Amino acid sequence: MAGTAVRGRLTWQAATVGSVMDETAQVRTLALEVPDWPGHRAGQHVDVRLTADDGYQAERAYSIASAPGEPLAITVERLDDGEVSPYLTEELRVGDEIEVRGPIGGYFVWDAADGGPLLLLAGGSGVVPLRAMLRHRERLGSTVPVRLLYSSRSLADVIYRAELDRCSDGVAVIHTLTRQQPAGWTGYARRVDPAMIAEVAWPVAEMPLAYACGPTSFVEAAASALVAFGYPPQRIRTERFGATGQ
Ligand SMILES: Cc1cc2nc3c(=O)[nH]c(=O)nc-3n(C[C@H](O)[C@H](O)[C@H](O)COP(=O)(O)OP(=O)(O)OC[C@H]3O[C@@H](n4cnc5c(N)ncnc54)[C@H](O)[C@@H]3O)c2cc1C
Repeated sequence: MAGTAVRGRLTWQAATVGSVMDETAQVRTLALEVPDWPGHRAGQHVDVRLTADDGYQAERAYSIASAPGEPLAITVERLDDGEVSPYLTEELRVGDEIEVRGPIGGYFVWDAADGGPLLLLAGGSGVVPLRAMLRHRERLGSTVPVRLLYSSRSLADVIYRAELDRCSDGVAVIHTLTRQQPAGWTGYARRVDPAMIAEVAWPVAEMPLAYACGPTSFVEAAASALVAFGYPPQRIRTERFGATGQ
């Protein structure tokens, strides 16, 4: 078993696109069939490698969108001027092959033994690994209380919207829409800031565990607001997707 896991992490493996699902106009989920997939933990990511006909290769990291025990899936946001994400979201078809390497990461993960309560902070596609955590919690039948604060540009940009709308049973999803709000919107309508964190966060005395994921600027703002609110830095786990995004 250990040998399988090590081989799976370190080597590139062929992955066949099993299905594609549009989440928003810019975002697509790809279910990937990897014959020797060693399994993964909630919050881990994979490296994806594309090879052009002339041998040119490009690699990018993508969080795993599916829960442990579910088939591997990634959710990719198309950056129109990007190199890899337009190909993954527009060109790839069911039956096409790419290469993946993973699962990768042992820090930005949530296992049942980590407990809670959980504060999940997502900016744009940063919701992807947090969704894997939510699904993991549900599949386990865990009762750990969760609050997800999710920042999107508009309602149409909310990834996994129907799935998040169905969350109940100890999971509260709080949206903030930073650029455009539908008529009658009563939720937050600004970027995550210390005042919002103070309203949404679990009290420090409850020893919550916080996960913040998204564009670098989002993660920095969220993490420093949490520290200002009193969360010990060792209870805050962060994953930065880079400078672009939400
Ligand atoms: C651990 C991890 C997990 C991730 N998970 C996800 C995920 O679940 N979903 C997801 O959608 N993304 C995720 N990402 C981001 C992903 O890896 C890619 O960075 C993203 O898809 C963009 O890749 P791209 O090739 O399309 O864009 P790139 O070609 O890499 O370009 C990205 C941006 O940088 C700009 N740029 C490129 N080169 C230059 C340059 N020389 N000078 C100035 N600007 C430049 C481009 O204009 C573009 O806006 C994750 C990243 C990390 C590190």
